[in-house]
Amino acid sequence: MLDGCTPWPEEFAERYRVAGHWRDETLGELLGRLARTHSYKTALVAGTDRWSYAELDTRADRLAAGLDWLGIGPGDRVVVQLPNTAELVALLFALFRIGAQPVLALPAHRSSEITYFCEFTEAVAYVIPDVHMAFDYRELAADVAARVPTLKHVLVAGDPGGFTALGDVRGDPVDLPRPDPAEVALFLLSGGTTGVPKLVPRAHQEWSYSGRAVAEACDYGEETVHLVSLPLTHNWPLTHGLLATFHAGGTLVLAPGPSPDETFPIIERERVTETGLIPGAALLWMEAAEWDEYDLSSLRRVTIGGTKLQPELARRVEPALGCRLQQAFGMAEGLCGFHRWDDPEDVVLVSQGLPVSPDDEVRVVDEDDHDVPPGEVGQLLARGPYTVRGYYRAPEHNDRTFTADGFYRTGDLVRLLPSGHIVFEGRVKDQINRGAEKIAAEEVENQLLAHPGIREVALVGLPDEVLGERICACVVPRGTPPTLAELSLFLRGRGVAAFKFPDRLEIVHELPLTPLGKVSKKTLTALLISSGAPLSSSLIGSGAAAPSSFVKDA
Ligand code: AMP
Repeated sequence: MLDGCTPWPEEFAERYRVAGHWRDETLGELLGRLARTHSYKTALVAGTDRWSYAELDTRADRLAAGLDWLGIGPGDRVVVQLPNTAELVALLFALFRIGAQPVLALPAHRSSEITYFCEFTEAVAYVIPDVHMAFDYRELAADVAARVPTLKHVLVAGDPGGFTALGDVRGDPVDLPRPDPAEVALFLLSGGTTGVPKLVPRAHQEWSYSGRAVAEACDYGEETVHLVSLPLTHNWPLTHGLLATFHAGGTLVLAPGPSPDETFPIIERERVTETGLIPGAALLWMEAAEWDEYDLSSLRRVTIGGTKLQPELARRVEPALGCRLQQAFGMAEGLCGFHRWDDPEDVVLVSQGLPVSPDDEVRVVDEDDHDVPPGEVGQLLARGPYTVRGYYRAPEHNDRTFTADGFYRTGDLVRLLPSGHIVFEGRVKDQINRGAEKIAAEEVENQLLAHPGIREVALVGLPDEVLGERICACVVPRGTPPTLAELSLFLRGRGVAAFKFPDRLEIVHELPLTPLGKVSKKTLTALLISSGAPLSSSLIGSGAAAPSSFVKDA
Protein backbone atom coordinates (compact mmCIF):
# COMPACT_ATOMS: atom_id res chain seq x y z
CA MET A 1 0.00 0.00 0.00
CA LEU A 2 1.30 3.37 -1.05
CA ASP A 3 2.49 5.95 1.43
CA GLY A 4 -0.31 8.40 2.20
CA CYS A 5 -3.14 5.94 1.43
CA THR A 6 -5.41 4.39 4.01
CA PRO A 7 -5.45 0.59 3.98
CA TRP A 8 -8.57 -1.55 4.47
CA PRO A 9 -8.66 -3.31 7.84
CA GLU A 10 -7.85 -6.99 7.27
CA GLU A 11 -11.28 -8.24 8.43
CA PHE A 12 -12.94 -6.25 5.62
CA ALA A 13 -10.35 -7.26 3.04
CA GLU A 14 -10.84 -10.89 3.97
CA ARG A 15 -14.63 -10.58 3.73
CA TYR A 16 -14.45 -8.99 0.27
CA ARG A 17 -12.05 -11.63 -0.96
CA VAL A 18 -14.18 -14.49 0.38
CA ALA A 19 -17.29 -12.98 -1.23
CA GLY A 20 -15.43 -13.04 -4.55
CA HIS A 21 -15.52 -9.27 -4.97
CA TRP A 22 -11.79 -8.85 -4.79
CA ARG A 23 -9.90 -11.15 -7.10
CA ASP A 24 -6.26 -11.86 -7.59
CA GLU A 25 -6.14 -10.01 -10.91
CA THR A 26 -4.63 -6.66 -11.83
CA LEU A 27 -6.30 -4.37 -14.35
CA GLY A 28 -3.52 -5.15 -16.80
CA GLU A 29 -4.25 -8.86 -16.41
CA LEU A 30 -7.97 -8.21 -16.85
CA LEU A 31 -7.30 -6.85 -20.34
CA GLY A 32 -5.09 -9.87 -21.11
CA ARG A 33 -7.88 -12.22 -20.09
CA LEU A 34 -10.42 -10.30 -22.18
CA ALA A 35 -8.08 -10.43 -25.17
CA ARG A 36 -7.95 -14.21 -24.86
CA THR A 37 -11.71 -14.62 -24.43
CA HIS A 38 -12.97 -12.00 -26.88
CA SER A 39 -9.93 -11.70 -29.10
CA TYR A 40 -11.46 -10.42 -32.34
CA LYS A 41 -14.44 -8.71 -30.82
CA THR A 42 -14.40 -4.91 -31.21
CA ALA A 43 -13.38 -3.49 -27.84
CA LEU A 44 -13.10 0.14 -28.72
CA VAL A 45 -14.26 2.63 -31.32
CA ALA A 46 -13.00 6.23 -31.25
CA GLY A 47 -12.85 8.51 -34.26
CA THR A 48 -11.29 6.43 -37.02
CA ASP A 49 -9.79 3.91 -34.56
CA ARG A 50 -11.58 0.58 -34.24
CA TRP A 51 -9.63 -1.89 -32.12
CA SER A 52 -10.38 -5.47 -31.17
CA TYR A 53 -9.61 -6.68 -27.65
CA ALA A 54 -6.49 -8.38 -29.05
CA GLU A 55 -5.32 -5.18 -30.70
CA LEU A 56 -5.91 -3.09 -27.59
CA ASP A 57 -3.99 -5.68 -25.58
CA THR A 58 -1.03 -5.60 -27.99
CA ARG A 59 -0.98 -1.82 -28.08
CA ALA A 60 -1.03 -1.62 -24.28
CA ASP A 61 1.84 -4.12 -24.13
CA ARG A 62 3.98 -2.22 -26.62
CA LEU A 63 3.29 1.09 -24.91
CA ALA A 64 4.12 -0.45 -21.52
CA ALA A 65 7.47 -1.57 -22.94
CA GLY A 66 8.15 1.95 -24.20
CA LEU A 67 7.24 3.53 -20.86
CA ASP A 68 9.47 1.00 -19.11
CA TRP A 69 12.30 1.92 -21.45
CA LEU A 70 11.82 5.60 -20.52
CA GLY A 71 12.33 4.57 -16.90
CA ILE A 72 8.72 4.91 -15.79
CA GLY A 73 8.10 2.12 -13.33
CA PRO A 74 6.04 0.72 -10.47
CA GLY A 75 4.63 3.36 -8.13
CA ASP A 76 5.50 6.28 -10.43
CA ARG A 77 2.71 8.81 -10.81
CA VAL A 78 1.79 9.99 -14.29
CA VAL A 79 -0.63 12.88 -14.75
CA VAL A 80 -2.86 12.04 -17.71
CA GLN A 81 -4.85 14.78 -19.40
CA LEU A 82 -6.13 13.36 -22.66
CA PRO A 83 -9.51 13.78 -24.33
CA ASN A 84 -11.67 10.81 -25.28
CA THR A 85 -9.39 8.88 -27.63
CA ALA A 86 -8.35 5.28 -28.17
CA GLU A 87 -4.81 6.29 -27.19
CA LEU A 88 -6.07 7.23 -23.73
CA VAL A 89 -7.47 3.74 -23.18
CA ALA A 90 -4.26 2.05 -24.36
CA LEU A 91 -2.22 4.36 -22.11
CA LEU A 92 -4.30 3.56 -19.03
CA PHE A 93 -3.84 -0.17 -19.49
CA ALA A 94 -0.12 0.28 -20.25
CA LEU A 95 0.29 2.17 -16.98
CA PHE A 96 -1.74 -0.47 -15.10
CA ARG A 97 0.56 -3.14 -16.55
CA ILE A 98 3.76 -1.53 -15.33
CA GLY A 99 2.24 -0.56 -11.98
CA ALA A 100 2.64 3.18 -12.63
CA GLN A 101 -0.30 5.18 -11.37
CA PRO A 102 -2.25 7.52 -13.64
CA VAL A 103 -3.54 10.68 -11.98
CA LEU A 104 -6.58 11.50 -14.06
CA ALA A 105 -6.97 15.18 -14.88
CA LEU A 106 -9.76 16.61 -17.00
CA PRO A 107 -9.10 18.37 -20.31
CA ALA A 108 -10.48 21.58 -18.79
CA HIS A 109 -7.83 21.76 -16.06
CA ARG A 110 -5.24 24.46 -16.44
CA SER A 111 -1.92 25.32 -14.92
CA SER A 112 -2.90 25.81 -11.30
CA GLU A 113 -4.63 22.43 -11.07
CA ILE A 114 -2.07 20.54 -13.15
CA THR A 115 0.86 22.02 -11.26
CA TYR A 116 -0.84 21.04 -8.03
CA PHE A 117 -1.45 17.45 -9.21
CA CYS A 118 2.14 17.09 -10.41
CA GLU A 119 3.68 18.58 -7.28
CA PHE A 120 1.40 16.82 -4.84
CA THR A 121 1.90 13.38 -6.36
CA GLU A 122 5.55 14.02 -7.32
CA ALA A 123 4.63 12.95 -10.81
CA VAL A 124 7.42 11.85 -13.15
CA ALA A 125 5.43 12.26 -16.37
CA TYR A 126 2.58 14.31 -17.80
CA VAL A 127 0.64 13.18 -20.88
CA ILE A 128 -1.24 15.70 -23.03
CA PRO A 129 -2.77 16.19 -26.46
CA ASP A 130 -1.01 18.73 -28.70
CA VAL A 131 -3.96 21.04 -29.35
CA HIS A 132 -7.48 20.28 -28.21
CA MET A 133 -10.51 22.57 -28.40
CA ALA A 134 -8.21 25.34 -29.70
CA PHE A 135 -6.00 25.11 -26.60
CA ASP A 136 -2.29 24.30 -26.95
CA TYR A 137 -1.45 21.92 -24.11
CA ARG A 138 2.28 22.04 -24.95
CA GLU A 139 2.42 25.62 -23.68
CA LEU A 140 0.69 24.52 -20.51
CA ALA A 141 3.16 21.63 -20.16
CA ALA A 142 6.17 23.95 -20.62
CA ASP A 143 4.85 26.11 -17.82
CA VAL A 144 4.21 23.15 -15.51
CA ALA A 145 7.52 21.44 -16.32
CA ALA A 146 9.41 24.62 -15.41
CA ARG A 147 7.81 24.57 -11.97
CA VAL A 148 7.80 20.88 -11.05
CA PRO A 149 11.29 19.40 -10.67
CA THR A 150 10.12 15.77 -10.40
CA LEU A 151 8.56 15.91 -13.86
CA LYS A 152 10.96 14.13 -16.22
CA HIS A 153 8.77 13.47 -19.22
CA VAL A 154 6.07 15.29 -21.14
CA LEU A 155 4.45 12.93 -23.64
CA VAL A 156 2.30 14.42 -26.37
CA ALA A 157 -0.42 12.68 -28.35
CA GLY A 158 0.07 14.29 -31.77
CA ASP A 159 2.69 16.86 -32.74
CA PRO A 160 5.15 16.84 -29.81
CA GLY A 161 6.59 20.33 -30.26
CA GLY A 162 9.77 20.14 -28.16
CA PHE A 163 8.54 17.14 -26.12
CA THR A 164 8.28 13.39 -26.75
CA ALA A 165 5.63 12.00 -29.08
CA LEU A 166 3.45 9.47 -27.27
CA GLY A 167 3.23 7.58 -30.58
CA ASP A 168 6.98 6.96 -30.47
CA VAL A 169 6.85 5.47 -26.98
CA ARG A 170 6.67 1.77 -27.77
CA GLY A 171 8.80 -1.30 -27.87
CA ASP A 172 8.69 -5.04 -28.15
CA PRO A 173 6.75 -6.44 -25.21
CA VAL A 174 8.99 -7.15 -22.23
CA ASP A 175 8.49 -9.09 -19.01
CA LEU A 176 7.45 -6.63 -16.33
CA PRO A 177 7.10 -7.21 -12.59
CA ARG A 178 3.49 -7.86 -11.64
CA PRO A 179 1.83 -5.11 -9.54
CA ASP A 180 0.03 -6.24 -6.39
CA PRO A 181 -3.76 -6.20 -7.05
CA ALA A 182 -4.17 -4.55 -3.64
CA GLU A 183 -1.92 -1.69 -4.74
CA VAL A 184 -3.19 1.67 -5.99
CA ALA A 185 -3.99 1.45 -9.70
CA LEU A 186 -4.98 5.06 -10.32
CA PHE A 187 -5.88 8.34 -8.70
CA LEU A 188 -9.24 9.96 -9.36
CA LEU A 189 -10.14 13.51 -8.44
CA SER A 190 -12.72 14.05 -5.79
CA GLY A 191 -15.85 15.88 -6.94
CA GLY A 192 -15.68 18.15 -3.88
CA THR A 193 -16.32 21.80 -4.62
CA THR A 194 -14.24 23.38 -1.89
CA GLY A 195 -10.52 23.77 -1.37
CA VAL A 196 -7.98 21.97 -3.53
CA PRO A 197 -9.21 18.79 -5.23
CA LYS A 198 -8.50 15.72 -3.16
CA LEU A 199 -6.99 12.66 -4.79
CA VAL A 200 -8.85 9.39 -4.47
CA PRO A 201 -6.57 6.34 -4.59
CA ARG A 202 -8.31 3.34 -6.18
CA ALA A 203 -6.72 -0.10 -6.00
CA HIS A 204 -6.74 -2.66 -8.85
CA GLN A 205 -8.97 -5.22 -7.14
CA GLU A 206 -11.56 -2.86 -5.69
CA TRP A 207 -11.85 -0.58 -8.69
CA SER A 208 -12.09 -3.55 -11.04
CA TYR A 209 -14.87 -4.92 -8.84
CA SER A 210 -16.81 -1.66 -9.08
CA GLY A 211 -16.94 -2.10 -12.87
CA ARG A 212 -17.97 -5.75 -12.59
CA ALA A 213 -20.70 -4.87 -10.10
CA VAL A 214 -22.00 -2.12 -12.42
CA ALA A 215 -21.98 -4.55 -15.37
CA GLU A 216 -24.08 -6.98 -13.34
CA ALA A 217 -26.48 -4.31 -12.07
CA CYS A 218 -26.97 -3.05 -15.64
CA ASP A 219 -27.15 -6.54 -17.24
CA TYR A 220 -24.30 -5.78 -19.61
CA GLY A 221 -23.28 -8.48 -22.06
CA GLU A 222 -21.26 -8.95 -25.23
CA GLU A 223 -24.02 -7.22 -27.18
CA THR A 224 -23.59 -4.02 -25.13
CA VAL A 225 -22.37 -1.03 -27.11
CA HIS A 226 -21.76 1.76 -24.63
CA LEU A 227 -21.17 5.33 -25.75
CA VAL A 228 -19.07 7.60 -23.53
CA SER A 229 -19.38 11.27 -24.42
CA LEU A 230 -18.51 12.80 -21.04
CA PRO A 231 -14.79 13.11 -20.24
CA LEU A 232 -13.56 9.53 -19.86
CA THR A 233 -11.06 10.49 -17.18
CA HIS A 234 -13.93 10.95 -14.74
CA ASN A 235 -14.96 8.04 -12.54
CA TRP A 236 -18.51 7.64 -13.79
CA PRO A 237 -17.68 7.17 -17.50
CA LEU A 238 -14.71 5.05 -16.50
CA THR A 239 -16.62 2.54 -14.36
CA HIS A 240 -19.99 2.56 -16.11
CA GLY A 241 -18.49 2.98 -19.59
CA LEU A 242 -15.04 1.47 -19.86
CA LEU A 243 -14.82 -1.03 -16.99
CA ALA A 244 -18.38 -2.37 -17.01
CA THR A 245 -18.42 -2.69 -20.80
CA PHE A 246 -15.07 -4.47 -20.90
CA HIS A 247 -15.97 -6.82 -18.04
CA ALA A 248 -18.97 -7.87 -20.13
CA GLY A 249 -16.96 -8.19 -23.36
CA GLY A 250 -18.98 -5.40 -24.99
CA THR A 251 -17.88 -2.50 -27.17
CA LEU A 252 -16.89 0.90 -25.85
CA VAL A 253 -17.52 3.82 -28.20
CA LEU A 254 -16.01 7.23 -27.47
CA ALA A 255 -17.40 10.57 -28.63
CA PRO A 256 -15.57 13.88 -28.22
CA GLY A 257 -18.49 15.49 -26.40
CA PRO A 258 -22.14 14.96 -25.48
CA SER A 259 -23.92 17.34 -27.89
CA PRO A 260 -26.44 15.77 -30.28
CA ASP A 261 -24.23 16.83 -33.21
CA GLU A 262 -21.33 14.86 -31.81
CA THR A 263 -23.27 11.82 -30.61
CA PHE A 264 -26.34 11.17 -32.78
CA PRO A 265 -24.40 10.19 -35.93
CA ILE A 266 -22.25 7.85 -33.82
CA ILE A 267 -25.29 6.25 -32.21
CA GLU A 268 -26.76 5.55 -35.63
CA ARG A 269 -23.50 4.24 -37.10
CA GLU A 270 -22.37 2.08 -34.18
CA ARG A 271 -25.85 0.96 -33.09
CA VAL A 272 -25.17 2.19 -29.57
CA THR A 273 -27.29 0.47 -26.91
CA GLU A 274 -26.32 2.31 -23.69
CA THR A 275 -24.97 5.66 -22.68
CA GLY A 276 -24.57 7.93 -19.65
CA LEU A 277 -25.59 11.58 -19.65
CA ILE A 278 -25.87 14.41 -17.21
CA PRO A 279 -29.34 16.04 -17.09
CA GLY A 280 -28.26 19.13 -19.06
CA ALA A 281 -27.07 17.01 -21.98
CA ALA A 282 -30.17 14.83 -21.73
CA LEU A 283 -32.27 17.96 -22.13
CA LEU A 284 -30.41 18.84 -25.33
CA TRP A 285 -30.88 15.30 -26.63
CA MET A 286 -34.60 15.42 -25.93
CA GLU A 287 -34.96 18.71 -27.76
CA ALA A 288 -32.85 17.59 -30.73
CA ALA A 289 -34.57 14.19 -31.00
CA GLU A 290 -37.81 15.99 -31.86
CA TRP A 291 -36.53 17.18 -35.22
CA ASP A 292 -33.30 15.28 -35.85
CA GLU A 293 -33.45 12.53 -38.46
CA TYR A 294 -30.81 10.24 -36.99
CA ASP A 295 -31.87 6.72 -36.13
CA LEU A 296 -31.59 6.34 -32.37
CA SER A 297 -33.64 3.15 -32.25
CA SER A 298 -30.68 1.01 -31.14
CA LEU A 299 -30.65 2.80 -27.77
CA ARG A 300 -31.90 0.38 -25.15
CA ARG A 301 -31.43 2.67 -22.21
CA VAL A 302 -30.10 6.09 -21.32
CA THR A 303 -28.56 6.53 -17.89
CA ILE A 304 -28.74 9.94 -16.31
CA GLY A 305 -26.74 10.97 -13.29
CA GLY A 306 -23.93 13.08 -11.94
CA THR A 307 -26.35 15.66 -10.73
CA LYS A 308 -29.98 15.32 -9.82
CA LEU A 309 -32.43 14.59 -12.58
CA GLN A 310 -35.58 16.30 -11.47
CA PRO A 311 -38.72 14.16 -11.73
CA GLU A 312 -40.25 16.77 -14.05
CA LEU A 313 -37.49 16.11 -16.58
CA ALA A 314 -37.27 12.40 -15.82
CA ARG A 315 -40.88 11.95 -16.93
CA ARG A 316 -40.04 13.31 -20.39
CA VAL A 317 -37.01 11.12 -21.12
CA GLU A 318 -38.60 7.86 -22.27
CA PRO A 319 -41.21 9.42 -24.60
CA ALA A 320 -38.63 11.81 -26.08
CA LEU A 321 -35.79 9.35 -26.64
CA GLY A 322 -37.79 6.16 -27.16
CA CYS A 323 -35.73 4.08 -24.74
CA ARG A 324 -35.64 3.20 -21.06
CA LEU A 325 -34.51 5.69 -18.46
CA GLN A 326 -32.08 4.61 -15.78
CA GLN A 327 -30.79 6.93 -13.11
CA ALA A 328 -27.37 6.58 -11.56
CA PHE A 329 -25.48 8.23 -8.80
CA GLY A 330 -21.93 7.79 -7.78
CA MET A 331 -18.75 9.40 -6.63
CA ALA A 332 -15.06 9.11 -7.28
CA GLU A 333 -14.71 7.84 -3.71
CA GLY A 334 -16.63 4.70 -4.64
CA LEU A 335 -20.28 4.04 -3.83
CA CYS A 336 -22.47 4.00 -6.89
CA GLY A 337 -26.04 3.02 -7.55
CA PHE A 338 -28.09 2.27 -10.63
CA HIS A 339 -31.69 1.35 -11.27
CA ARG A 340 -32.30 -2.24 -12.21
CA TRP A 341 -34.18 -3.12 -15.39
CA ASP A 342 -37.29 -4.31 -13.52
CA ASP A 343 -37.52 -1.38 -11.08
CA PRO A 344 -41.03 0.11 -11.18
CA GLU A 345 -41.48 3.34 -13.11
CA ASP A 346 -42.40 5.44 -10.08
CA VAL A 347 -39.15 4.39 -8.40
CA VAL A 348 -37.10 5.19 -11.52
CA LEU A 349 -38.62 8.65 -11.79
CA VAL A 350 -37.98 9.78 -8.23
CA SER A 351 -34.90 7.91 -7.05
CA GLN A 352 -31.30 7.82 -8.22
CA GLY A 353 -30.67 4.10 -8.02
CA LEU A 354 -29.78 1.21 -5.77
CA PRO A 355 -26.18 0.50 -4.65
CA VAL A 356 -24.56 -2.02 -6.98
CA SER A 357 -22.92 -4.36 -4.46
CA PRO A 358 -24.67 -6.55 -1.89
CA ASP A 359 -21.85 -5.52 0.44
CA ASP A 360 -22.36 -1.78 0.07
CA GLU A 361 -23.28 -0.41 3.48
CA VAL A 362 -25.17 2.86 3.59
CA ARG A 363 -26.34 4.87 6.58
CA VAL A 364 -28.42 8.03 6.64
CA VAL A 365 -27.50 10.13 9.64
CA ASP A 366 -28.27 13.42 11.36
CA GLU A 367 -25.73 16.05 12.36
CA ASP A 368 -24.68 13.94 15.35
CA ASP A 369 -24.11 10.85 13.24
CA HIS A 370 -27.23 9.15 14.61
CA ASP A 371 -29.31 7.18 12.13
CA VAL A 372 -32.43 9.09 11.14
CA PRO A 373 -35.80 7.29 11.24
CA PRO A 374 -36.51 5.23 8.07
CA GLY A 375 -37.49 7.42 5.13
CA GLU A 376 -36.25 10.68 6.62
CA VAL A 377 -33.59 12.91 5.14
CA GLY A 378 -30.03 12.88 6.43
CA GLN A 379 -26.44 12.70 5.29
CA LEU A 380 -25.46 9.60 3.36
CA LEU A 381 -22.54 7.62 4.77
CA ALA A 382 -21.04 4.80 2.74
CA ARG A 383 -18.67 1.90 3.29
CA GLY A 384 -18.04 -1.13 1.14
CA PRO A 385 -15.82 -3.19 -1.11
CA TYR A 386 -15.11 -0.35 -3.55
CA THR A 387 -15.48 2.75 -1.38
CA VAL A 388 -12.12 4.13 -0.31
CA ARG A 389 -11.05 4.53 3.30
CA GLY A 390 -9.25 7.83 2.82
CA TYR A 391 -7.88 10.42 0.40
CA TYR A 392 -4.25 10.41 -0.60
CA ARG A 393 -1.99 12.27 1.84
CA ALA A 394 -4.80 14.14 3.57
CA PRO A 395 -4.83 12.91 7.19
CA GLU A 396 -6.70 15.88 8.66
CA HIS A 397 -9.30 15.93 5.93
CA ASN A 398 -9.67 12.17 6.31
CA ASP A 399 -10.36 12.54 10.02
CA ARG A 400 -13.27 14.82 9.19
CA THR A 401 -14.52 12.99 6.13
CA PHE A 402 -14.42 9.39 7.35
CA THR A 403 -15.99 8.05 10.51
CA ALA A 404 -13.82 6.14 12.98
CA ASP A 405 -15.28 2.89 11.64
CA GLY A 406 -14.51 3.73 8.02
CA PHE A 407 -17.71 5.20 6.60
CA TYR A 408 -17.25 7.95 4.01
CA ARG A 409 -19.30 11.07 4.69
CA THR A 410 -20.62 11.78 1.22
CA GLY A 411 -21.89 15.28 1.96
CA ASP A 412 -25.11 14.26 0.22
CA LEU A 413 -28.53 14.64 1.73
CA VAL A 414 -30.64 11.63 0.90
CA ARG A 415 -33.55 9.55 2.02
CA LEU A 416 -34.03 5.85 1.44
CA LEU A 417 -37.15 4.31 -0.06
CA PRO A 418 -38.33 1.11 1.65
CA SER A 419 -36.81 -0.73 -1.35
CA GLY A 420 -33.37 0.69 -0.49
CA HIS A 421 -33.30 3.06 -3.46
CA ILE A 422 -31.58 6.33 -2.72
CA VAL A 423 -33.35 9.63 -3.29
CA PHE A 424 -31.08 12.66 -3.47
CA GLU A 425 -32.44 15.64 -1.59
CA GLY A 426 -29.46 17.94 -1.99
CA ARG A 427 -25.94 18.39 -0.77
CA VAL A 428 -25.27 19.15 2.86
CA LYS A 429 -23.66 22.31 1.54
CA ASP A 430 -26.43 22.93 -0.95
CA GLN A 431 -28.75 23.99 1.79
CA ILE A 432 -29.86 27.56 2.21
CA ASN A 433 -30.28 28.78 5.76
CA ARG A 434 -32.78 31.62 5.60
CA GLY A 435 -33.59 32.99 9.00
CA ALA A 436 -32.79 29.54 10.46
CA GLU A 437 -35.26 27.89 8.09
CA LYS A 438 -33.38 25.30 6.06
CA ILE A 439 -34.24 25.03 2.38
CA ALA A 440 -33.01 22.19 0.14
CA ALA A 441 -32.23 24.03 -3.08
CA GLU A 442 -33.08 21.01 -5.22
CA GLU A 443 -36.59 20.80 -3.83
CA VAL A 444 -37.40 24.34 -4.98
CA GLU A 445 -35.50 23.88 -8.26
CA ASN A 446 -37.67 20.89 -9.04
CA GLN A 447 -40.78 22.89 -8.36
CA LEU A 448 -39.58 25.76 -10.52
CA LEU A 449 -38.63 23.43 -13.38
CA ALA A 450 -42.32 22.74 -13.84
CA HIS A 451 -42.76 26.41 -14.79
CA PRO A 452 -43.17 26.69 -18.58
CA GLY A 453 -40.88 29.73 -18.75
CA ILE A 454 -37.92 27.97 -17.07
CA ARG A 455 -35.45 25.82 -18.94
CA GLU A 456 -32.82 25.48 -16.21
CA VAL A 457 -32.59 26.85 -12.71
CA ALA A 458 -30.08 26.94 -9.88
CA LEU A 459 -30.84 28.19 -6.39
CA VAL A 460 -28.08 29.63 -4.25
CA GLY A 461 -27.92 31.30 -0.87
CA LEU A 462 -26.51 34.83 -0.80
CA PRO A 463 -25.25 36.35 2.45
CA ASP A 464 -27.72 38.63 4.17
CA GLU A 465 -27.19 40.66 7.30
CA VAL A 466 -30.66 40.08 8.63
CA LEU A 467 -31.55 36.56 7.64
CA GLY A 468 -28.12 34.98 7.33
CA GLU A 469 -28.87 34.04 3.73
CA ARG A 470 -31.38 35.00 1.10
CA ILE A 471 -32.47 32.83 -1.79
CA CYS A 472 -31.43 33.74 -5.29
CA ALA A 473 -32.89 31.86 -8.25
CA CYS A 474 -30.72 31.93 -11.37
CA VAL A 475 -32.92 31.04 -14.29
CA VAL A 476 -32.17 30.13 -17.88
CA PRO A 477 -35.49 31.03 -19.48
CA ARG A 478 -37.51 29.19 -22.07
CA GLY A 479 -39.09 31.94 -24.18
CA THR A 480 -40.21 35.02 -22.26
CA PRO A 481 -38.44 35.13 -18.89
CA PRO A 482 -40.69 34.99 -15.82
CA THR A 483 -40.64 37.72 -13.19
CA LEU A 484 -39.93 37.23 -9.51
CA ALA A 485 -43.55 37.94 -8.63
CA GLU A 486 -44.72 35.31 -11.13
CA LEU A 487 -42.43 32.74 -9.56
CA SER A 488 -43.80 33.43 -6.09
CA LEU A 489 -47.31 33.09 -7.41
CA PHE A 490 -46.39 29.89 -9.20
CA LEU A 491 -44.81 28.35 -6.10
CA ARG A 492 -47.71 29.42 -3.99
CA GLY A 493 -50.03 27.72 -6.46
CA ARG A 494 -48.06 24.48 -5.98
CA GLY A 495 -48.41 24.68 -2.22
CA VAL A 496 -44.82 25.56 -1.42
CA ALA A 497 -44.07 27.28 1.89
CA ALA A 498 -43.45 31.01 1.47
CA PHE A 499 -40.05 30.93 3.16
CA LYS A 500 -38.80 28.90 0.19
CA PHE A 501 -39.71 31.53 -2.39
CA PRO A 502 -36.74 33.21 -4.07
CA ASP A 503 -35.91 36.70 -2.79
CA ARG A 504 -34.08 37.54 -5.95
CA LEU A 505 -34.26 36.42 -9.56
CA GLU A 506 -31.39 36.51 -12.02
CA ILE A 507 -32.13 35.72 -15.63
CA VAL A 508 -29.01 34.23 -17.16
CA HIS A 509 -27.95 33.03 -20.57
CA GLU A 510 -26.40 29.86 -19.17
CA LEU A 511 -25.29 28.45 -15.84
CA PRO A 512 -21.61 28.08 -14.98
CA LEU A 513 -20.50 24.48 -15.20
CA THR A 514 -17.80 22.38 -13.61
CA PRO A 515 -15.56 20.56 -16.09
CA LEU A 516 -17.93 17.59 -16.03
CA GLY A 517 -20.86 19.80 -16.82
CA LYS A 518 -22.51 20.08 -13.44
CA VAL A 519 -23.81 23.45 -12.39
CA SER A 520 -21.07 25.09 -10.34
CA LYS A 521 -22.93 26.79 -7.52
CA LYS A 522 -19.64 27.88 -6.04
CA THR A 523 -18.85 29.90 -9.18
CA LEU A 524 -22.39 31.14 -9.43
CA THR A 525 -22.44 32.39 -5.85
CA ALA A 526 -19.04 34.03 -6.21
CA LEU A 527 -20.14 35.80 -9.37
CA LEU A 528 -23.34 37.00 -7.79
CA ILE A 529 -21.51 38.31 -4.75
CA SER A 530 -18.73 39.99 -6.72
CA SER A 531 -20.94 41.54 -9.41
CA GLY A 532 -22.32 44.85 -8.28
CA ALA A 533 -24.37 44.98 -11.48
CA PRO A 534 -27.16 42.51 -12.04
CA LEU A 535 -25.70 39.26 -13.32
CA SER A 536 -28.01 39.28 -16.29
CA SER A 537 -26.37 42.34 -17.80
CA SER A 538 -23.04 40.56 -18.15
CA LEU A 539 -24.43 37.31 -19.41
CA ILE A 540 -27.24 38.05 -21.76
CA GLY A 541 -26.59 39.61 -25.10
CA SER A 542 -23.59 39.09 -27.33
CA GLY A 543 -21.89 36.78 -24.88
CA ALA A 544 -18.59 38.50 -25.60
CA ALA A 545 -18.32 39.70 -22.03
CA ALA A 546 -19.28 36.38 -20.47
CA PRO A 547 -16.73 35.22 -17.93
CA SER A 548 -14.80 32.20 -19.20
CA SER A 549 -16.16 30.08 -16.38
CA PHE A 550 -19.58 30.37 -17.97
CA VAL A 551 -18.38 28.65 -21.08
CA LYS A 552 -18.61 24.90 -21.03
CA ASP A 553 -15.16 23.74 -21.98
CA ALA A 554 -15.12 20.00 -21.51
P1 AMP B 1 -18.03 13.03 -8.41
O1 AMP B 1 -17.08 12.46 -7.42
O2 AMP B 1 -17.51 14.18 -9.19
O3 AMP B 1 -18.64 11.95 -9.25
O4 AMP B 1 -19.21 13.69 -7.60
C1 AMP B 1 -19.94 12.90 -6.70
C2 AMP B 1 -21.11 13.68 -6.23
O5 AMP B 1 -21.97 14.03 -7.32
C3 AMP B 1 -21.99 12.91 -5.28
O6 AMP B 1 -21.51 12.93 -3.97
C4 AMP B 1 -23.29 13.66 -5.42
O7 AMP B 1 -23.28 14.84 -4.67
C5 AMP B 1 -23.30 14.07 -6.87
N1 AMP B 1 -24.11 13.14 -7.66
C6 AMP B 1 -23.71 12.10 -8.38
N2 AMP B 1 -24.74 11.52 -8.98
C7 AMP B 1 -25.83 12.19 -8.64
C8 AMP B 1 -27.23 12.08 -8.94
N3 AMP B 1 -27.71 11.15 -9.76
N4 AMP B 1 -28.04 12.97 -8.39
C9 AMP B 1 -27.59 13.94 -7.57
N5 AMP B 1 -26.30 14.10 -7.25
C10 AMP B 1 -25.42 13.23 -7.79
